[in-house]
Amino acid sequence: MLSKKIDRPQILVSLNSTCIPTGQCDCDGGDCACDLSPLAELSSDISLSLGIFETEFVISPNSQIMNLDDTYSICYGTDHKVAVLNQSALYLLKLFTNPHKLDDITTENSHINQIDLQTAIQELYQSRLIVPKNNSSSKLNEIPETLSAWLHITDRCNLRCDYCYLPHLARDMSIDIGKAAIESTFRSASLNHYRRVKLKYAGGEALLCSPLIKELHLYAQSLSKETDIILDGVVLSNGTLITSEIIEMLQRLNLRLMISLDGLSDFHNIQRTYAGGKGSFQDVERGIKIALQNGIVPDISITVSGRNAEGLPDLIEWILEHNLPFSLNFYRENELSASYEDLQLEESKLIQGMLAAFKVIELKLPNRSLLGSLVDRANLSSPHKRTCGVGQSYLVFDYQGQIAKCQMQLHKTVSSVDTQDPLTVVRQDKTGIQNLSVEEKEGCRTCEWKYWCTGGCSLATFKATGRYDIQSPNCNIYKALYPEALRLEGLRLIKYS
Ligand code: SF4
Ligand code: SF4
Repeated sequence: MLSKKIDRPQILVSLNSTCIPTGQCDCDGGDCACDLSPLAELSSDISLSLGIFETEFVISPNSQIMNLDDTYSICYGTDHKVAVLNQSALYLLKLFTNPHKLDDITTENSHINQIDLQTAIQELYQSRLIVPKNNSSSKLNEIPETLSAWLHITDRCNLRCDYCYLPHLARDMSIDIGKAAIESTFRSASLNHYRRVKLKYAGGEALLCSPLIKELHLYAQSLSKETDIILDGVVLSNGTLITSEIIEMLQRLNLRLMISLDGLSDFHNIQRTYAGGKGSFQDVERGIKIALQNGIVPDISITVSGRNAEGLPDLIEWILEHNLPFSLNFYRENELSASYEDLQLEESKLIQGMLAAFKVIELKLPNRSLLGSLVDRANLSSPHKRTCGVGQSYLVFDYQGQIAKCQMQLHKTVSSVDTQDPLTVVRQDKTGIQNLSVEEKEGCRTCEWKYWCTGGCSLATFKATGRYDIQSPNCNIYKALYPEALRLEGLRLIKYS
């Protein structure tokens, strides 16, 4: 019950938490396939229309409430954005546990003054915390918006990271193959009605081929203009080769930059070294600073393994000091890294390291949502059914123009640049990696986190279990971290309200 003194209801909702690819919310998490087709458009600008007062409203289905402290609770669900409510807003929301017309809620049964009451009801409605009783079922349709393509422009790299899955052949993509790859991406995008194409220039170390990036992206820009499909581009780099000239080129091309950084000093060097064995931290740090000094804010991709988990708090502190967007991704074993047993994620060690990093974030909450970047492949900002775009909205081109479904399986190609609509071939393939919907995964179907977690990386699950239709081997880690990640978002919303 409410105390005698009634606070004005407060409903705090993040304005930038849906998964539109931006510099911050890049669910690539370093190197993966951005998918996150939203299940429902989460509208925030509905106004109370005529006749609405005849309708009965209820709390949005599948909403969950978690206490943050004595004053605030966080409300999350599949049909609305994450919202923080103070006690009187929560009281008001709970009145809709049973169906009510908006007019039924009066100052008498809510003890809130008339103006505040009307404003609060409108806010509950606009943020979809309450929905019409007869229209309350989840709109669980996947709406593809972005077709992502990984362009493996070189297999070469100046580093030899212990978890790398590449053989490092001295092979680059030719300009002709690169253009053909971009053409086939736009072809599939047009044929399958995508509004946006996202190109990821990757390797190896993509910046070993910066002139190629320039030429290819100029070509992509011309196709974007021709087809009226929005173009987004990002360069994935180890950060060691950055110069002011390269940053200037990226800016001119409107390309974003993602840099891998796994720790400060030795915690980075322990898994990211040059071919000769020297650690790369100093050069990556210099690269990040050059980017910042020249006007590009790089996204930082952190791979968390059994080796560097302990160093996460210091790394996160450094990242927050520099106000950099980041994503935390868990190490995934591959054939080449399997012999390094200490990279394996030991559950308790990893949870400890992550929670210690979350504590650091709590002390220095950034003014951007972290829901898409705190826990591996999960995105808690927007409900979705699949962990990534593999097999749905993702093409991976090798340097010869062959097309694979995931960059970690570059050798398993299913199509090529010559195919009229390679995306359809990729979608129909039943032999390679299968990226199932979370609803098809045993152990996930009844999980409260399913539409944010979606059961983890299919490849990692298959490697650990031999199955695609089962929950992630990291499930316990995820379940330990999700409530904490949500709590951080709640505290962040309060801080910036
Ligand atoms: S299958 Fe796994 S490794 Fe491949 S893109 Fe998806 S999340 Fe990343
Ligand atoms: S992997 Fe675990 S946490 Fe994720 S949806 Fe499945 S059961 Fe839930």
